[in-house]
Amino acid sequence: MKSYYTILFIIIAIAEGFCVGLTFHSKRKIAKILRIVFFWALVSIIANVLLTYTENIRVADFAYSLFFGSINWVIYYMLRFTTEYTAFPLSTQKVFRPFLKILLTIDSLSMFLNLFFHHAFTTYPVVTSHGEQYFHTLKYVFYNVHLIFAYILSAAILLVLLGKVFKTPALYWRKYFIVIFIMVFLLGTDALFVFTQKVIDLSILSFAFGSYLLCYVALIYKPKALINRMHRYIVENLADSILFFDADKTCIYINEIARERFHIDPKNLEAVGDLLQPWLRKAKADLRRDSYTAMYSGSCNGPTDPETNENRIYLFIEFHRMYEKGKLLGSFFRVQDRTTYMNNLMTERYSMAHDPLTGLYNRDHLCRRIEERLMEDPDGDYLVISSDIKNFKLINDIFGKSAGDAMLCRIADALRDNASEDTIYGRLGSDKFGLMMRRERFRENLFIEGPNQIIKMEDNLEYPVIVHIGVYEVSERRLPASVMFDRSNIAMQTIKDDYQNRIAYYNDTVRQKLLWDQKLSGELEEGLRLNQFLLYLQPQADHFGRVKGGEALVRWDHPSEGFLLPGTFIETFEQNGRIAALDRYVWERACQLLQKWKEEGHNEMYISVNISQKDFYFLDIYQTLSDLVDKYQIDPGRLHLEITETAMMADMELKQEIIHKFHAKGFCVEMDDFGKGYSSLNVLKDLPVDVIKTDMEFLDDSVQPERAEKILKVIMKLAASLQIEVITEGVVSQEQVDFLKGLGCHTFQGTYIAPPMAVTDFEQRYMA
Ligand code: C2E
Ligand code: MG
Ligand code: MG
Repeated sequence: MKSYYTILFIIIAIAEGFCVGLTFHSKRKIAKILRIVFFWALVSIIANVLLTYTENIRVADFAYSLFFGSINWVIYYMLRFTTEYTAFPLSTQKVFRPFLKILLTIDSLSMFLNLFFHHAFTTYPVVTSHGEQYFHTLKYVFYNVHLIFAYILSAAILLVLLGKVFKTPALYWRKYFIVIFIMVFLLGTDALFVFTQKVIDLSILSFAFGSYLLCYVALIYKPKALINRMHRYIVENLADSILFFDADKTCIYINEIARERFHIDPKNLEAVGDLLQPWLRKAKADLRRDSYTAMYSGSCNGPTDPETNENRIYLFIEFHRMYEKGKLLGSFFRVQDRTTYMNNLMTERYSMAHDPLTGLYNRDHLCRRIEERLMEDPDGDYLVISSDIKNFKLINDIFGKSAGDAMLCRIADALRDNASEDTIYGRLGSDKFGLMMRRERFRENLFIEGPNQIIKMEDNLEYPVIVHIGVYEVSERRLPASVMFDRSNIAMQTIKDDYQNRIAYYNDTVRQKLLWDQKLSGELEEGLRLNQFLLYLQPQADHFGRVKGGEALVRWDHPSEGFLLPGTFIETFEQNGRIAALDRYVWERACQLLQKWKEEGHNEMYISVNISQKDFYFLDIYQTLSDLVDKYQIDPGRLHLEITETAMMADMELKQEIIHKFHAKGFCVEMDDFGKGYSSLNVLKDLPVDVIKTDMEFLDDSVQPERAEKILKVIMKLAASLQIEVITEGVVSQEQVDFLKGLGCHTFQGTYIAPPMAVTDFEQRYMA
C-alpha cells in the first residue's frame, strides 16, 4: 500500500509542478500569485510523500511541521489570488496584508518549533492491518489555533468571492463559482480526512484537481458568453450602421442605426439585400470584390430621391466577406455617416479657395485654376486681365467701408453674370479683380461700359468711379499666373493717372519700361557710390526777384543713358522703395552745401528738399534729418522739407506727430503740390505746415480761368488766415507774378525766375 501511496503522491507532485510550469506562460500578475500558491502546494505534497514513505519518527515529525507550515502559505496566497481575481480594492488589501503575514509567520514558526517543544502536536506511529507503519499526530491547543486560523482565512476567501458574486451580473458568476467550488471541495476533503482520522490524508489529491481547475479559470478560460454579449451591445449601440449577411446572402442582423438609415423593417430582413442595391449602385461600389469601400453621396431619403443641399448625406460604405477554411461564412457592411466631416471639409476647402467678401476665387486659387486651364488647353488663345478701381480708397473714406464693400460685391456679381462659362475669374485683393478669358470673346466695350452700369445701380453714389483694366495676352504659357497678373498690372500702371484711357495692354512699350525700371534699380547703388547723382537748385524768389533759397532737384548723370531728369527714375524708385537711399543722399548733399555757405557767410539762403511718401516707411525721417543737421552744424530752419499733399494724407496721425517733432527742432515744413490731391483743405486743417506750394500747372487746363482765379484767391486768403506762407510753383511770366502778388503770394518758383541749375551756376548767379 505504502508504495502505491508514494507513487500516487509523486504523480500529484508532478501534476503540481506542471501547473507551476503553466503559470510561466502568462505575464499576468495573477499567474505570478498562482505560481506561489502551487509552489507551496508542492511543498505540502512533498511533505506528504515524506510522511508516507518514512519509518523514522523524527522525519515524520519534521514532515508534519513542514506540511502544516506550508498549508498556511497555500491559503494565504489563495487569498491573494482571490483578491486579485475579484479586483478586490487594493487599499483594503494593503491594510490586512502585513498583519496577516506576521500572524502566518508566527504560526509557521510555531509549527517548526514544535520539533523541539511539541507544544502543538506529537507524532506517534500507527500500524495498519497490513502491517505497515504510518504516523499520526496527537494535537494540542496550539495546533487548534493553527487550524482555526486556516479556517478563518479560508472563510475570508469564500466571503470575498461571494461578495463579488453579489455585486456582479449573473454573466460573471460562472467565473467566481468555479473558485468557490474549488475552495469548498478542498475544505470539504480536508475536513473529511481530519475528522475521519484515516491512516493517510488523501485530501492532498484535491490539491492537484483544484490546481488544474484554477489554472484553467485564471489563465485559460475566456467568458465567451460575456464577450458575445459585449460584442452585441457594442454593435447595437455603434454610431455606424452594421448589417450582417449569412453565406446565402440573406440579412441576419442589422443594428438600430442601420434600421433608421436605410428605412428597414426589422421583420423583413430578407428584403435588405435588394433594398441596399440602389445605394451601392449610386456609390459605384465594386460588388464583385470580397472587400471594398465606396462613398455614397446623395439624398438621405435614398438614391431615388432628388438630391438637394439640405438633404445631402455622405456615407462611407465598407464591405467584407468572411471566410472560414476557404468557405464563405458570411459578410457584413459597416456604413459610416461622414456628412458632418465632409461638410466641414468642403467649407474649409471653400474658404481656402474663396474670398470671404465676394465669394469669388481668391488670388491663389484663381492663379491655380488659370495654370490648370492653360495646361488642359494648350492651343487656346487667352488673355489675362486685371482691374483696379481708381481712388477706391476715396470711396471708402467718403461713403464708408460698407459702401466700398457693397461696390466690390456688385463688381463680383457683374463678373458672375457676364462671364462666359470658360472664363475664370476671382478677386486678386482689395479693389483688384482678375480673370482669364478666351481672346475671341474679349470686347473692350464690355470692360468700359460694365463698370458704369455697376455705378449706376447705386442711387446715392454719384462719385464718378473709374475702373482701369490691364490686359496681358498669354504668350508665354509657362509663366506662373501671378506673373501674368503682374504684367497686366504693369500695363495698368501706365494709365494710372489717365482719366481718358481705361484699358492698357502689356506690350513692348510696357515691357521696355519694365526692363528700364529693372536696369535703373540695379544701377542705383553704383550711381550713389560714384556720385552720379547731381544736386540742381531751382531758385525761389520774392516779387522783386530777390532769391531767398532754392529747391534741391536731383539729376542723374548716367554713364550710358546720359543726363536723366527725375521724371525718368523717381517713380521707379518710389515703387520699389529705393527712393529712400537716394533721398538720404540728396539731403546729405544739401546739408553739406548749407554748411559750406554758412562758412562762406551766406547764412540767409535756404534749401528745400523733397521727401517722398515711401521715405516714411523705410526711414526714421525725423532722426535721419536731425542727425544730418547736427552733423553739419547747420540751422534746421535753413533746411526746408517738402512733403507732397498726397504723402501727407496717408496716415495723417503719424504725419502730424512727425511734423510736430520737426517744428520742435526748428525745421520748416512745406506742403508740396498743394491742390493736386483731393482733400487739400481737409489736410490743411489737421497738419500744421508752415508753407504750401501751389502749382500754376493745376489751373492750366481750366476752361474757366475766372473760376480758377477765384479758387486761388480763396486758397491765399485761407493760408493768410492760418498764417501759412504760400509759394507758387511753375510761374512762367511777370503777369502771373503780379497777379499772385495781388492775391498775397510773396514767393515764386518757376522758369520765369530761373530753371533748375547746377550748384556752381546758382552760387555764381545769386551768391557772388
Ligand atoms: P516738384 O517737387 O514739384 O519739383 C518741381 C518740378 O517742377 C521740377 O521738376 C521742376 O523742374 C519743375 N518746374 C520748375 N519750374 C517749372 C515751370 O515753370 N514749369 C514747369 N512745367 N515745370 C517747372 P523736376 O526737377 O523734373 O522734378 C520733378 C519732380 O521729381 C519733383 O516735383 C519732385 O516731386 C521729384 N523730385 C525731384 N528731385 C527729387 C528728390 O531728390 N527726391 C524726391 N523724392 N523727389 C524728387
Ligand atoms: Mg518739390
Ligand atoms: Mg511741386
